[in-house]
Amino acid sequence: MPEIPYTLKRRLEMAPHGFEDLRAEIEKISDMAALNASARRDAQGNPLFHKIEFIVVHHSGNPNPHTPMSTAQQAMKEGEPTIEYHICIQNGKVFWTARFVYVTNHTYGFNSRSIGVCVLGDYSTKEPNPQDLEALRFVIAALYEFFGQGWGQFRLLGLVPHMWVKNNSTACPGKIWSRALWDGQWPKLGAPE
Ligand SMILES: [Zn+2]
Repeated sequence: MPEIPYTLKRRLEMAPHGFEDLRAEIEKISDMAALNASARRDAQGNPLFHKIEFIVVHHSGNPNPHTPMSTAQQAMKEGEPTIEYHICIQNGKVFWTARFVYVTNHTYGFNSRSIGVCVLGDYSTKEPNPQDLEALRFVIAALYEFFGQGWGQFRLLGLVPHMWVKNNSTACPGKIWSRALWDGQWPKLGAPE
């Protein structure tokens, strides 16, 4: 029996509170020359996903109403080549915002080794809502499932809250709930360096 064709996008479409693929739309306003110049590719142009070892979890830190698109626009205004995060979560909905082949600026000194997943909002002093946490858990499980079984070259070692990455002085994604990243509810945790 042939394998059922399976893509990460198809998996993400099963997100419990909705999914939207914004990658193409955000690329329209991105600096594609800069992104392509630093993309994770081999000499033949094939993606080098084994260079991704970690998922870094963020909050956007913005207390004002904002969306994945406005987050992307703000990043462009600040001189970024594109949105900082590969996946955003808002009100439980999952948004795919940047291709994993692109190295975006979400974690100082750690971008080429990781992908960034961000819950939109300021969670410095409160937890995200249960739908957001459920969506985050779903995304992380889907990434481990897909890259662990689908692409052997991808070696996902762990999941880390931004504040735990060395040389990153930040409160992101918030003290209260980032502890929950390590409370055993998450799949296949690896310890950060
Ligand atoms: Zn962060």
